[in-house]
Amino acid sequence: MFRRILPALILFSIYTCKLWAQGTNQGFTIIPLGVKGGDDESNLSSYMIAPEGSEKYVCLDAGTINAGIQKAIKMKSLKGISEEIQRRQIKGYLISHGHLDHLAGLIINSPADTAKNIYGLPSVLNILRDKYFTWDAWANFANEGEKPQLKKYTYFSLIENTTYPLKDTEMKVKAFELSHGNPYKSTAFLISHDDVYILYLGDTGADEIEKSDKLASLWKNIAPLINAGQLKAIFLEVSFPNEQPDKQLFGHLTPKLFYSELSKLEGLTDSKAFKKVSFIVTHTKPPQKTAEEVKKQLISEKSKDLKLIFPEQGKHLTIN
Ligand SMILES: [Zn+2]
Ligand SMILES: [Zn+2]
Repeated sequence: MFRRILPALILFSIYTCKLWAQGTNQGFTIIPLGVKGGDDESNLSSYMIAPEGSEKYVCLDAGTINAGIQKAIKMKSLKGISEEIQRRQIKGYLISHGHLDHLAGLIINSPADTAKNIYGLPSVLNILRDKYFTWDAWANFANEGEKPQLKKYTYFSLIENTTYPLKDTEMKVKAFELSHGNPYKSTAFLISHDDVYILYLGDTGADEIEKSDKLASLWKNIAPLINAGQLKAIFLEVSFPNEQPDKQLFGHLTPKLFYSELSKLEGLTDSKAFKKVSFIVTHTKPPQKTAEEVKKQLISEKSKDLKLIFPEQGKHLTIN
């Protein structure tokens, strides 16, 4: 009798071990290195992300690096010396667009950094190559553009809607183009590890204001992942309060526009599945009083108990 149930027992324990292993590693760790949309140069858009339990991160945008790592060490989100963390734990940079508040930290800290990839749509990498990593603006630490090329960084072009592995990490990325003050462009990055996903949007305007369909087509692409319970969180910007006139949005969102876009996404999804997604609010512009107003408006307009997260510099988040 025992002989007969032994194989079944072994099979059962292998199966439960596998389930347990999956269960321990089903999300992402995010360390915000910078969360604001302007002014404070020590706290500009940049988020380290790695699968839960891993120390192999990439940076989603790179407005602030060093000051953010130092804050994260103080808050016990990271252990070590900031330069070493940048050198060893950040395996690459994903840059959403060419504005300084999304890449200044990468440029300024480049002399102390190690060799790695910079990922982006070709049009974004061209801005780095032609405007920043030039010998007039700084030094050319990259592998293309003005000579001499120091070749520390390798530009890695992402073709829209195509999946690529992120070198030296366990993650993959797929890029989508966004409209950021038409005709200017920005990027959304869909990051995956196994079957778990996170979506990061760089700066973006609403389709109706931008006269664009970029968000509509992004929502159509990712809705099936929400319905499957695989997309855990979406980073989306809210730069200005509702009072900001349409003509002065410069390709950004207000709380009202944030919700009008999200209701379009919700319309494509199962409402139970939609409510499980966390929305990480990014890029709110100073002064502090305006930023507080944005938060207040987001909370008061929140009609259908959405999970809103207001990230803080240095404070790690676990998304699963
Ligand atoms: Zn921008
Ligand atoms: Zn920005």
